[in-house]
Amino acid sequence: MLFRSLQQIEEMGHEQVVFCHDPTSGLKAIIAIHDTTLGPSLGGCRVRPYASTDEALQDVLRLSRAMTWKSALAGLDLGGGKCVIIGDRSDNSEARFRALGRHIQGLGGRYITAEDMNTTTVEMEWVRKETAFVSGLHPLDGGTGDPGPVTAYGTYFGVRACLQHTFGSADPKGRRVAIQGVGSVGMGLARHLADAGAELVLSDINMDRARSAAAEFGAKAVEPDAFYSADVDVLAPCAIGGVINPKTIPLLKAPIVCGAANNILGDDERDGLDLMGRNILFAPDFCVNAGGIISVFGEVRRYGQQSAMVRAERIEQTTLDVFAHATSDGVPPVRAAIAIAQHRIDSVRALRRI
Ligand code: NAD
Repeated sequence: MLFRSLQQIEEMGHEQVVFCHDPTSGLKAIIAIHDTTLGPSLGGCRVRPYASTDEALQDVLRLSRAMTWKSALAGLDLGGGKCVIIGDRSDNSEARFRALGRHIQGLGGRYITAEDMNTTTVEMEWVRKETAFVSGLHPLDGGTGDPGPVTAYGTYFGVRACLQHTFGSADPKGRRVAIQGVGSVGMGLARHLADAGAELVLSDINMDRARSAAAEFGAKAVEPDAFYSADVDVLAPCAIGGVINPKTIPLLKAPIVCGAANNILGDDERDGLDLMGRNILFAPDFCVNAGGIISVFGEVRRYGQQSAMVRAERIEQTTLDVFAHATSDGVPPVRAAIAIAQHRIDSVRALRRI
């Protein structure tokens, strides 16, 4: 397994992968540092009861690489990193996160952690007791708090870019958008779209939540399975990753897929090409959901939420640039977005060698 993992790390371009263990608190974690050319690697720490160490490793390798592309594309001076803790949220404890904080401190600033799935400002406060290399703190502790609103705002501008590219107008008025997952980001996106005059179709695994959100926006609520075949202009997955795959792609009627969930495509290359072949525009999630990292970076660089919101608006132009690049090269937008991000990283790396 070790040889295969090393080979995979080499192929994916990671700089360092650290396996962390603390017998007293029961911490079992993996920190992956993908690329630090542009700055320290920054990415959230998620807690999940992975079925195996290999499953956790695959998750952290893919997520950390996407963080490199996300920050590079958003113009931030950050590299890509991520941390996964193998376990259940109910086992989150001060001891476990302080133990993680010591491992992060040992990396000397090459990795900065933040909240992610099943971690909150509470866990980040515990980490901070052992290291300064942590962000996503509560505003009362000098942090920028929940990045969800900035992510939602940025995704809204990603949707506008998709509308512009497909229909020649970015205006959401009268457009129909289906949102999967009305949590922190999905609700925020729904609010921006409703304010701009879009018609909404809302779906959530928790149907009570979907119905109450639908009532708030005068929208239609649909069962989770009906999301994929919704007769709308835009499908916005804002719940979990991997939802656009060979099983769901044949069901799609919408000409655009643009959402905030990380790793929306089951496989970037295979599903990106399949969508392009069907004339469905896919906005790379690591391009449109960069509002979260823009917000968190504000904590490191000390710019406020207002400035983060303005920076998130630039996602519209960045997404349009990705589509223009994809069109001129005849490649899926995911490939174009990676190429733009990689170009920035390579040019900075070359500059440093001078
Ligand atoms: P959240 O937990 O607040 O909301 C997720 C919602 O999705 C919940 O209402 C949940 O019931 C619903 N859901 C879960 N599984 C579902 C399924 N299979 N089908 C339909 N609905 C389902 O999470 P969030 O912070 O809104 O994040 C949403 C997505 O955006 C995640 O994939 C996250 O990784 C990504 N993301 C979030 C941020 C951020 O700043 N919060 C930043 C970047 C990316």
